[in-house]
Amino acid sequence: MNKKTVRDIDVNEKKVLVRCDFNVPQDLETGEITDNRRIVAALPTIQYLLENNAKIILCSHLGRPKGEVNPKYSLKPVADELSKLLNKEVKLAKDIVGEDAKRLTSQMQPGEIVLLENVRFDSREEKNDETFSKELASLAEVYVNDAFGTAHRAHSSTAGVANYLPAVSGFLIEKEIEFLGTALENPKRPFVAILGGAKVSDKIAVIESLLDKVDTLIIGGGMAFTFLKALGHKIGKSICELDKLDLALEILEKAKKKGIEIVLPIDTHVSTEYSNDAEDKFVHSQEIPDEWEGLDIGPETIKKFGEIVKDAKTVFWNGPLGVCEFSKFKVGTEEIAKILAGLDATTIIGGGDSAAAIEKMGLADKMTHISTGGGASLEFLEGKKLPGIECLQDKD
Ligand code: AMP
Repeated sequence: MNKKTVRDIDVNEKKVLVRCDFNVPQDLETGEITDNRRIVAALPTIQYLLENNAKIILCSHLGRPKGEVNPKYSLKPVADELSKLLNKEVKLAKDIVGEDAKRLTSQMQPGEIVLLENVRFDSREEKNDETFSKELASLAEVYVNDAFGTAHRAHSSTAGVANYLPAVSGFLIEKEIEFLGTALENPKRPFVAILGGAKVSDKIAVIESLLDKVDTLIIGGGMAFTFLKALGHKIGKSICELDKLDLALEILEKAKKKGIEIVLPIDTHVSTEYSNDAEDKFVHSQEIPDEWEGLDIGPETIKKFGEIVKDAKTVFWNGPLGVCEFSKFKVGTEEIAKILAGLDATTIIGGGDSAAAIEKMGLADKMTHISTGGGASLEFLEGKKLPGIECLQDKD
């Protein structure tokens, strides 16, 4: 997939509408931004546009205001933070495509930045309404999508607007395409994928797609128990999708035919309750006693998974290997993160809980790529066409 980027289009003195992902976590009471990483991540594209004399119009959603103006979800804190980071005025429009947005964007000078209000204040945004897309487009001359986290949604600001403007990607989406696309399509081998998380049903399409690419597939987290049960093992009261047992067997069979090894946990950290405070112990993963549930992988499994990835040249990881919300059961996820951080391989992390764990541990810069989109990165890997990427111009 070869999509044009901001480098491939003339932005000099042009009004450029950039769809960013400024959906940042905030303090519920004060509205203060508690983690500015998504804003920091948008800076390279904005800085490039500044250096190339563009008039920059930024837009994003924040939270779920459900199509109504709600000051709680105003982008004001984002405008302030951006302004601080860029050491430059960022004007916040009071609306998205209304009088104030038109006024602020009509007389812009190169190097000026205007941030439109939350695009989800207008109910037409999520409907990918044609009129709204046109109104957004009418503010600018070029469209840049740099919001990978919403690229799997066909909304006005993520896709519809591209029907009316020349559309290219920003640097964040360029990087996602490079790593989730190119690097995983033609991986350096051995290529090992690690999948965790609660349910098999959420990841069926990803597993199917990975079976065409990987040499080894490691399965941990809650979803491993459906596979263990399907193989006839005792899993106690661990999380399990009984209606997916046949599917699990089919997946195992398919992998076998393709010569791909699926590796499951060999020991499990179990608890009497889904809690951080109940009794716990380590047991063999194939013999979990009736009243116990598996909440994390055990030390033998960590060692085994570590040995497998040690020789890999490419590793993709999505989904925690245990209930990482509980301090007692986040060990497997954290140990695997540490192992990946020390590898001399291309390490690509799908967004979500595994990415959050890595960032919390301060290991982000030890990975080759951490995707900025959880759902979007999985859909991309499944081979689905993401509207926010499809709508961009192809390179010649
Ligand atoms: P996902 O969004 O599919 O990546 O799933 C993430 C969730 O999986 C996290 O909230 C974890 O608590 C949960 N999870 C991981 N391992 C287990 C497990 N052994 N039992 C129950 N839930 C788990």
